[in-house]
Amino acid sequence: MPHVMTVLGPVAPDSIGFTLPHEHTQISLWHIQGRWDYWELTKDEGLALDELALYRDAGGTTLVDLTLPGVGRDPLWLRRLAEQSGLHLVMGGGWYRTAYYPAEALIDKRSVDSLAEELVREATVGVGDTGVRIGILGEIGTDKPWVTAQEERVFRAVARASRRTGLAVTTHAVLSDVGAAQLTILEEEGVDPGRVVIGHQDSYPVLDHYLSLIARGASIEFDFLGMSFSAVEEHGESRVIDLLLELLHRGHADRVLLSQDVCHTSQLKRYRGNGYVYLHETFLPRLRERGVGQREIDQMTVANPRRVLTIG
Ligand SMILES: [Zn+2]
Repeated sequence: MPHVMTVLGPVAPDSIGFTLPHEHTQISLWHIQGRWDYWELTKDEGLALDELALYRDAGGTTLVDLTLPGVGRDPLWLRRLAEQSGLHLVMGGGWYRTAYYPAEALIDKRSVDSLAEELVREATVGVGDTGVRIGILGEIGTDKPWVTAQEERVFRAVARASRRTGLAVTTHAVLSDVGAAQLTILEEEGVDPGRVVIGHQDSYPVLDHYLSLIARGASIEFDFLGMSFSAVEEHGESRVIDLLLELLHRGHADRVLLSQDVCHTSQLKRYRGNGYVYLHETFLPRLRERGVGQREIDQMTVANPRRVLTIG
């Protein structure tokens, strides 16, 4: 039976409505060697539940948390949030990118198949002894505009796990066309590009790049929406919207996903950030002003993430 695997177990695909496919409910990025800022989305259950309630009240049903081992993944935290928020929460699996690979993952000390085996177990049995299963592979990333040797191993392991479990793969590809190289590795391993989402594509606003990924069968994700950590992010949205409209005009609404990638405490509503409701409050109204209809909005925010998350 086709299903979506949430942290509370499988649910019917048609119970998945409006979805944010690339988010975090807590994450810690500043603890690694060489990083001296204090980047984190604080792990505060009451605060997270307040923010998730605003998202649910705005019309959200589902949120995908792509925080991975090495940056704080916690299956039981997600299970508690799901129980108390009433949202469908989906947990990611795999390893993030070179700088954040946890030593205990032994990325370059065991075989690619051994890495894949661990992911298959997380998809079928659960993480450790929690019984909480992953519902997507990601966010699988590259630090730089190229794929490192270790990253290539992770992509191959993820591809093999995807083929064995049916889970989709969602990636982290910033500020360059490295998403094309990521897709090539997944293709070499036999993954159906229709099961691949190349992430953070609004950070590389190049139409030909988007069109070539879509022509290969992959989906692209604009998931830094509402971010304002850099001037380009803060003032670059009109360009992203222009490109998105061009994709819609060319009939590619079925290959675009939208999200916000909340990953810092300052992005929360409590601190006058966008919370998890930037799409509802700001971005989608801007699309409507530009003539985008509800059918296309539903395609991008409901049908596409539902398709990606559906297994079997
Ligand atoms: Zn990312």
